[in-house]
Amino acid sequence: MDGHGSFRLEARGVRKSFGGVEVLHGVDLDAVGGSVLALLGENGAGKSTLVKIIAGDYQPDEGALTIAGEQVTSLDPLAARRFGIRMIYQELADAPPLSVAENISLGRWPSRRGVISWGAVRRRAQRVLEQLDVDLDLDAPVGSLRVGERQVVEIARALSDEARCLVLDEPTAALSAPEVERLFAFVRRLRDQGVAIIYITHRLDEVRALADRVTVLRDGDVVLNGASADLDRRALVSAMVGSSVGDVERPEDVHEAERSDTPALRLRDASVTGAFADVDLAVYPGEVLTLYGKLGSGTTEVAAAVYGLRRLSTGTMEIEGRPTTVAGPNEAIRAGIGYLPADRQREGAFMVRSVAENLSAPSWSRLARYGVVITRRLEAVAYRRWHDELSIRSRNDPEQLLATLSGGNQQKVLLGRWLERRSQVLVLVEPTRGVDVGARQEIYRSIRALASQGVGVLVSTSDYEEVVQVSDRAAVMARGRIVARLAGDDITTARLTQEAGG
Ligand code: ADP
Ligand code: MG
Repeated sequence: MDGHGSFRLEARGVRKSFGGVEVLHGVDLDAVGGSVLALLGENGAGKSTLVKIIAGDYQPDEGALTIAGEQVTSLDPLAARRFGIRMIYQELADAPPLSVAENISLGRWPSRRGVISWGAVRRRAQRVLEQLDVDLDLDAPVGSLRVGERQVVEIARALSDEARCLVLDEPTAALSAPEVERLFAFVRRLRDQGVAIIYITHRLDEVRALADRVTVLRDGDVVLNGASADLDRRALVSAMVGSSVGDVERPEDVHEAERSDTPALRLRDASVTGAFADVDLAVYPGEVLTLYGKLGSGTTEVAAAVYGLRRLSTGTMEIEGRPTTVAGPNEAIRAGIGYLPADRQREGAFMVRSVAENLSAPSWSRLARYGVVITRRLEAVAYRRWHDELSIRSRNDPEQLLATLSGGNQQKVLLGRWLERRSQVLVLVEPTRGVDVGARQEIYRSIRALASQGVGVLVSTSDYEEVVQVSDRAAVMARGRIVARLAGDDITTARLTQEAGG
């Protein structure tokens, strides 16, 4: 390998169009050996397209690359590989039926006199997994592994011969917290060995933890470039979303629900002993009603009770005017109630199932009657319907695993499943907890799109900016009771915090 830090990759004036639409408008990027460049941007900004050009997967329409001092106008994947460029793709690019060892040598089979050397395949795998300090069964088919483990295999493949530039495209979307820590440790180790790292993310905490420099793309342009130590969260967010985020704005399509309608959901004098009391509320079709309160104020318990996770001690619930009792989630779903819990990683999301299957999950019992072939076809129909309606950004592929979508898009899929189920009432608990600021705006748009389909949406949240951005009306809870009701221009962060604290 060259001396420490000597590798350099420069992209200059890169332009790229797809079907006549330009998605990169003359972009510059610099990756330097021994440092981590975070490439930031919202979904659709052009990050993946840019790094696919660097990996030789796409040809730029204009622009040039200089790699290790050599100017190239275009690259193919083989040439990129010879330059030491390795890519971990956003979507898993492995071969599920093949073993761990085979996947690590995929496309670069060690051979002697034209015959694949299976001993060498195993030795190579063993060596690289040892370097990475991970313990995986070399003979297990990767299709049987968890997504995080499959990603480790992808990393092992990328590193199984000398890498000088490693590109990771949103690698943590499907990883658990300890897996993220381990990935960061790999990345730091490689950086210290002089590898140039390009790390794509839209998670700002990862930028702080990992990056030396930051380049922000927005709609195909570089809008910010600098040392990460000089850039605070606010600067990064406003570069990503293109506006100042300090001023939280009310959505434009807020409306007063038609009060002549029957409420989609109504609670009268509802209480759960020890959690909340005397809760009266009505959510009308087509509106978003937010229950706002600090932790422990009772908002999550009200949401849980509507979905049958807590039994009402007193009071009644009505769905579209019909008195309804729900003894559990199955009854709630049958009554037309959908629910999105705060912890999506553990509850409700089937990360290693496809987007189409996830969209159809609450309808599985209905679909089960039809057998596999028809079910697949119905899932594909559901996929096409909601993919566009909720602007889910993914490959145009119903079979794509949920885990490979960004957090915000996973959330949209989970919203879409309740539309597919034709729920009249949707209960969302902390819908953007752990979601980055940019993706949050998209989720708010999806929630409002849901309401505009005629669903009555009840959001339980402890985030007052969320209340301002998503609600038609808001009820503030404190110590288990509703203490204020706000609508229209009265929904401000100042009012909300004042009422919740008082
Ligand atoms: P990011 O990775 O920042 O989310 P992408 O590079 O994937 O963004 O996409 C940038 C834009 O280019 C998007 O509008 C996307 O729809 C479009 N795009 C990406 N790849 C293709 C493709 N193969 N064909 C057509 N459009 C594409
Ligand atoms: Mg991408």
